[in-house]
Order: sequence, then structure tokens, then C-alpha cells
Amino acid sequence: MKALIDMTKCSGNARCYQIDQELFQIDDIGYALREEFEVPAEQEEIAREGAASCPERAITLL
Ligand code: SF4
Repeated sequence: MKALIDMTKCSGNARCYQIDQELFQIDDIGYALREEFEVPAEQEEIAREGAASCPERAITLL
């Protein structure tokens, strides 16, 4: 699975980071740091949780 984060939608609330700090890395002020990354098979469920936690719907899983 691949995760894409739309930086134009990210509002820097760090909700995804609160779900998983390794997958959803953020900068010093709470904005998503990685625009695109691979999700290891064993972390797909937590990635779905992270995507669902984003109020801006900025995280797409493919
Ligand atoms: S939850 Fe969404 S809006 Fe908040 S930091 Fe993560 S990607 Fe950005």
C-alpha cells in the first residue's frame, strides 16, 4: 500500500501523527512531512486509522 498526502489540504493539526508517529511524520509545527511513502503490509490497518483521523481528508491510501 502507498500513502499520499495532499500538502495543499494539510492543516497541521497532527491528528495522523497521534495515530502513528512513525508512519505519519510531521514537522515542528504539526504539518505532514512526507508527501508519499510506502506502508508496510503489517501497518496497513494503522495507516487506515491515520487516514480516517484526518479531518481534511488529505491522506489517500492506494
Ligand atoms: S491529520 Fe491530515 S491535516 Fe492533520 S497533520 Fe495529518 S495530514 Fe495534515
